[in-house]
Amino acid sequence: MFGKGDIRIVVPSHGIIIIDHKNGSGVMVEPDDSQLKMYGYMGFESTKEYLGEIPVIEMWISQPRKPHKDGPHRSVYMTGEELTNWWLDTLLPALAAAREENALLKTGEWCRFCPAKMDCPATKGEVDDVKIVGNVDTLSNEEIGRLMAKRAVIVKFLEAINAEGNARAKKGEMIPGFKLVHQKGNRAWKDSMNEKDENGVEKKVTFAEAVVARFGKEAYEPQVLKSPPQIEKLVEGSRFVSKWAYTPQTGLTLAPDSDKRAAVKPAIEQFMDDMAAQETKGDDSK
Ligand code: SF4
Repeated sequence: MFGKGDIRIVVPSHGIIIIDHKNGSGVMVEPDDSQLKMYGYMGFESTKEYLGEIPVIEMWISQPRKPHKDGPHRSVYMTGEELTNWWLDTLLPALAAAREENALLKTGEWCRFCPAKMDCPATKGEVDDVKIVGNVDTLSNEEIGRLMAKRAVIVKFLEAINAEGNARAKKGEMIPGFKLVHQKGNRAWKDSMNEKDENGVEKKVTFAEAVVARFGKEAYEPQVLKSPPQIEKLVEGSRFVSKWAYTPQTGLTLAPDSDKRAAVKPAIEQFMDDMAAQETKGDDSK
């Protein structure tokens, strides 16, 4: 349990409006996320004497940097009773289970923000359990699936190690095998310089003046059309994008069973199914 709701508006004799802003673009958050429901329930519990008989709790998420088919601001509505039932029947039992001595430790995407991930036996177990293999083509399908399922946890663990190593080195500690260096940077333009004109008089010239004077139109990039997520941020952009944008098929990839997308059959299996269906159809028509 964590965080603070950004905005809570109590509407007397009606309900509460909870608004939470997410500036990140890494993890998609939906308005019925348990974090929002916690804010909703806590808000309801602390102000219910001001609300109507059937208080409505509106929970809004605003995540402008993460494109979503329903737009950046999305909401769900729950009654105070529904939220109370969720709190009592789902959240409190889970909290109690987490406090038990040998509580279940289940790694996943949620470990990303967990302050215990560096010491968590489950995370360490996932990492320790990975054997370095010579040839991946000697692994069984079961081993591939097991290792792919650990990928996210291992990557997050290594990112946390990297951040910790950097922080220690910047404080002056030695990390064997590594040294502090300047990060690579890209060249940037100066804003302006003093240059002499044809009469030898020094004057301030801006970069834009200098580059256009020297290269003319070639100093400019060609105009580039914005992407659907960029157009979506413009006024009336969502409607335009829903009319003009489509998602091209970019090939198949493996996703965990828990992924919301429907499973796709590889082309050969689909072909065999189509052939079998055609044969059945032929038999039926005899
Ligand atoms: S790092 Fe460990 S304790 Fe933290 S969320 Fe993941 S499994 Fe749970």
